[in-house]
Formats: sequence, C-alpha cells, structure tokens
Amino acid sequence: MTTQDMTTPTRGDVLLRATDVTKHYPLRADGFSRHRRTLRAVDGVSLEVRAGETLGIVGESGCGKSTLGRCLVRLTELTGGRVEFDGQDISGLSTRRLRPVRPGMQLVFQDPQASLNPRRRAGDIVAEPLLVHRYGDAAAVRRRVAELFDVVGLSAAHLDRYPHEFSGGQRQRIGIARALATGPKLIVADEPVSALDVSIQAQVLNLFADLQDEFALTYVFIAHDLGVVRHVSDRIAVMYLGEIVELAGTEELYEAPAHPYTQALLSAVPEIDDGSDASPRERIVLTGEVPSPVDRPTGCPFRTRCPYAREQCALERPRLTPTASGRSVACHFPLAG
Ligand code: SF4
Repeated sequence: MTTQDMTTPTRGDVLLRATDVTKHYPLRADGFSRHRRTLRAVDGVSLEVRAGETLGIVGESGCGKSTLGRCLVRLTELTGGRVEFDGQDISGLSTRRLRPVRPGMQLVFQDPQASLNPRRRAGDIVAEPLLVHRYGDAAAVRRRVAELFDVVGLSAAHLDRYPHEFSGGQRQRIGIARALATGPKLIVADEPVSALDVSIQAQVLNLFADLQDEFALTYVFIAHDLGVVRHVSDRIAVMYLGEIVELAGTEELYEAPAHPYTQALLSAVPEIDDGSDASPRERIVLTGEVPSPVDRPTGCPFRTRCPYAREQCALERPRLTPTASGRSVACHFPLAG
C-alpha cells in the first residue's frame, strides 16, 4: 500500500458523489419552547468530485462546510442522503465494512497543533495509520515513514522530534504525510492553511499542488477565504446556511458570480493590480446577521441579507439549478447565466 500501488481512477471520472446529504442535530427543548428543535448543519447537498480535480468549498464560519467535509469521508454519520466513493455507496457501511475503504479517503485538519498528539514523536504519528492498516513489518513501516517525510519536505532528522519542536508549517506537513500514508485517492483538506502565516500558506499550497501532480490525488479543499481556494481549485462550491448556493468553474465564478452571496464574498477579496483597464470590483458590505441554522428563514436562506431580494424570495426556496453555461445556482434571479 503506497501512494501509487492502489488502482488509480481515470482522470475525469466521478470519484465522489454526494446526493442530498443532510446532517441535522436535534437540540433539547428549552424553557421557551416545548418543541424539540433541529440544527440543520448540512441541508440537502448534492455534488460530484471528479478524479484528479480540486473542488473548493467556501463559505463563512458556521455555514456547514466542515461538517459536510466530515460527512464526505464518513467521519460524521449522515442524517440523510447518500455518499458514493469510487463507485461504492459508503453512507450506510458499518465501521467494520468501512475499514477497507478508509485508506482511500483521508482528512487533513485545520489546526496542525491540535490534530497531532503532543506526546508522540512525529515519525510515530505518521506510522500510526500504517500500523492500523497493517502495512508491513517494522522495517517496512520505518522505510515508508522516511519516504513520506521526504515527500512532504521534511528530513530524517525530524522523525524523532515532538510536535512542539516544529513550526506551524512543518506541523501541517506532518499532518499531510499522515494523510498520505495509506495511499489515498481523495484528500479532504479542511482549512489546511488558515492557521498559518501568509508567507507559509503559499509554501503549503504549493506542496498540495505538487503532491496532486505526483500522486494523481483528488482534493476537496475547504476554506472561508475565496482568495485561497482560487489558486488551488478547478471548481468552487459556495455554501450558505448548510446549502450550496453556487457551483461553478473557478474562472467563471470569479469573472461573473451568479449568486448574490458569491458576489458579496468576492467583493471582499483584495484584487491584484495587473495593469489592465478593468474597473475594480465594488465592495458589497452585507448587512444583517447570518441567520441561525436552527431558525432558517422561509424561502431563500440568503434573503435576509440579499440586496436583490424580492417578494418571491420569501415565498419559495430556490433550488440549485444548472444554467445554460454549465454552472449551478440557487437563486430566483441569478446575476449571470
Ligand atoms: Fe437574493 Fe432572492 Fe436570489 Fe435569494 S433568491 S439570493 S433573496 S435574489
């Protein structure tokens, strides 16, 4: 089991398909209401990820993107819907039947400090998934760990160090090495650079890109910052209140956002002066609070903050619908086709 000896999916084939995925958390009735209430963290998400591509998932804090990421790799049980990975429905698999699937799909966490056991040496942390999945004898595991350290830009001298002896960027490299250990086809990276200094972010993003080329990896890249996902994503899904509101090719989405929420998020991304005559984007400041996923607005979930809301928006929930240009948007009055 190495990063190359599992069957490599054909580039462009659907590797991961989510259909109407929901994750709801029942809340206890409080003193004001006798009714049990439900927090709808993920509310009917459907998407496909093709082998070899990077799908970015973007949205504000609390929009459900991390919960969705965990549902996609079955680290969180689904409330409803279905997830197929590499042609197999994994939504209802027991822990035992999920075990042979696990090596193929891994998660890289946001906070490398919190996700690495402080009492274990870096080499042992990376060896752990190899031991769990019975990679080989002790010598084979040691060789493999040394190989993984080299792949992520760490040296053999780092193997015996503890997590606190590394910089933030190096700790994230250990997390990436651990994710690569089992030879995955899919990596879901949950805000993998947001805890890092800007100067280090670029190095880790470049590492992700190099590894994708070298090992034909498929990524789901979760971030709150559209500026970050632009540089790594082929397509981008924008989430709001547990739903995808727009899904489009990266350049298409940046050039002409169709959903008013995407437009507002984009307007906050600093633009690089490339010397062109194009007028800078107007900054759109959203007013109003993000509604609670416990008390969602009727109709369109974005209508309480949308500068373009009309009467129909309160009455009818817009569904994610393909447009003529191939993108999908959940808005009654999209800004682009
Ligand atoms: Fe705005 Fe209405 Fe579109 Fe919702 S459906 S994003 S409220 S225009």
